[in-house]
Amino acid sequence: MRVVFVGPPGAGKGTQAENIVAEYKLFHLSTGDALRAAVAAKSPIGIEAEKYMSSGALVPDEVVVGVVVERLDEAKDGCLLDGFPRTIAQAEALDKVLAEKNAPLDVVLELAVPEDELFKRLASRGRADDQPEVIKRRLVAYREQTEPLVGYYTKAGILRKIDGLGTVEEIYGRIKAVLDEYK
Ligand code: ADP
Repeated sequence: MRVVFVGPPGAGKGTQAENIVAEYKLFHLSTGDALRAAVAAKSPIGIEAEKYMSSGALVPDEVVVGVVVERLDEAKDGCLLDGFPRTIAQAEALDKVLAEKNAPLDVVLELAVPEDELFKRLASRGRADDQPEVIKRRLVAYREQTEPLVGYYTKAGILRKIDGLGTVEEIYGRIKAVLDEYK
């Protein structure tokens, strides 16, 4: 099973992703985590990525696509891509790589949460990029660059929307009901 997880910053993707990969035994690839690790390691990619991440902008497509492609081979028995793709160009690059492997995506989960709730959640989280001005820019980046993926994957017939309001358990129940159709 190959799954993409999309949703705005603060929607709770990270929390739900932990549950999903444990239960469905999927390889978890979070580009946010991978980039933060590169930043911490001060690798060339990390040094480049940090400039964008600290301001709330997206890291350039070619940098992120490189990070993902080199790790996709670890995903023999299925994967959960979390935070990738985040632009149409990234989605097209992913489709191309997966087509070459004869391993297309099965389903894209959109975790939907209203913006006022996102702001509240992010402001209370306290990560380095959770400052109010940076949060605002991340939400704008989501709306302008990532939300078009909803149309892209709807057209492909693989988008499933999940209501992201409720307790962690309630939301996970909704995700499970969808993923069990693809097992
Ligand atoms: P959140 O979902 O809360 O924004 P992430 O951990 O997914 O957190 O991402 C943090 C930051 O990492 C983003 O604001 C962006 O700068 C960068 N990033 C992560 N994934 C991508 C991606 N696919 N394309 C470009 N930038 C990315």
